[in-house]
Amino acid sequence: MSNTPAAGVLPGHPFVHLRADQLFVEEVALSELAAAHGTPLFVYSKGAMLNALAAYQRGFAGRDAQICYAMKANSSLGVLQVFAQAGCGFDIVSGGELERVLAAGGDARKIIFSGVGKTPREMRRALEVGIGCFNVESEAELHVLSRVAGELGRRAPVSIRVNPNVDPKTHPYISTGLKGNKFGVAHEETLRIYQVAASLPGLQVVGIDCHIGSQITEVTPYLDAMDRVLDLVDAIEAAGISLHHIDFGGGLGIDYQGDTPPAADSLWAQLLAKIDARGHGRKKLMIEPGRSLVGNAGVCLTEVLYVKPGEQKNFCIVDAAMNDLPRPAMYQAFHRILPVAPPAASATVACYDVVGPICESGDWIGRDRELRVQGGEILAVLSAGAYCMSMASNYNTRGRAAELLVDGAKVHMIRERESTADQMRHERLVLA
Ligand SMILES: *Cc1c(COP(=O)(O)O)cnc(C)c1O
Repeated sequence: MSNTPAAGVLPGHPFVHLRADQLFVEEVALSELAAAHGTPLFVYSKGAMLNALAAYQRGFAGRDAQICYAMKANSSLGVLQVFAQAGCGFDIVSGGELERVLAAGGDARKIIFSGVGKTPREMRRALEVGIGCFNVESEAELHVLSRVAGELGRRAPVSIRVNPNVDPKTHPYISTGLKGNKFGVAHEETLRIYQVAASLPGLQVVGIDCHIGSQITEVTPYLDAMDRVLDLVDAIEAAGISLHHIDFGGGLGIDYQGDTPPAADSLWAQLLAKIDARGHGRKKLMIEPGRSLVGNAGVCLTEVLYVKPGEQKNFCIVDAAMNDLPRPAMYQAFHRILPVAPPAASATVACYDVVGPICESGDWIGRDRELRVQGGEILAVLSAGAYCMSMASNYNTRGRAAELLVDGAKVHMIRERESTADQMRHERLVLA
């Protein structure tokens, strides 16, 4: 892959483009942002986020639907604020995420709480602020939730997350809807568990939920999962338990490396046709997209520190690492890497592994990339809006990067670079 990008918009990245050899996000040159704010640096496009959201909104036009941003993809307050102001709900997976939504101005009634291990304390807080729905993942959790709600004199709104046992054809670590996976309740058990839920005094059954995996790029697994879920809806309602909404999870993929996921609106045209054909078109629809709303809205800027030619491999050592960009180390994931400005004439073209400074061989960002680079140049790691900063760590006592939100020509700092003092704040020396 050459690092001299073609002019114009980059495929899959409608808000990242080349203008006179300079890479821009919206109206802002990335080289200027790196010079002003240092690296590693995350830069997000507000327009790209709203554009991705609009594709879902078009898909649901005229329907009773609620889009709940699965915030674990990127939980920075400034990002949450963009979605809260656009009227989104949120899919949360912890009490910490709940507090972030509230701090960003999100509407508690549009929050749904997913995850296999909710604690009673998290349930209590979520009930007190009045969230919209708990997506319950086991029979044991139903009993605990009913008890906690009873103690507060409330009834908790619940859906049960069902495991439709379809293969989303994605990486095994991000596949969640197959048997043998910790998520959801088995298809065969679903009706019985709904009957348990309907019998518990602290619960109010409101819906059904599923989520089959992440970075899904084909329509078929979605259509199959919808059929399986609608079979269950029929069985549950035939047993006298009515369901107000169907929550179909998230998982739609993005273009990392020429991937061709369906557009959100065309995917939903097909799913809605199926829902209508099966007579459930008047139910409220909920979805939980994460990656597809933010993934290609973000880039991570990193400076080339050293170029290190080797006998078997050449290494391009950059100042971002697996603590900033964990996806390659975790899932062997691919991110495109481009220079933000034309390389210096003295730089030579070679094939490099792009690696960070962390003391782990797993600390790589891209492998076998043809790049024309030398020390001091700035590279942009694309598709860095989802599952990067939200998974970032302090490994090797590296402070987390700063984050900027670009809105046209305006640049908002939404997270300051973390200092070493920040990192050590809660630690104590042992006193004699
Ligand atoms: C992670 C997750 C999502 C979002 O997945 P994406 O692939 O980012 O769209 C939605 N729902 C649940 C329950 C999740 O755990």
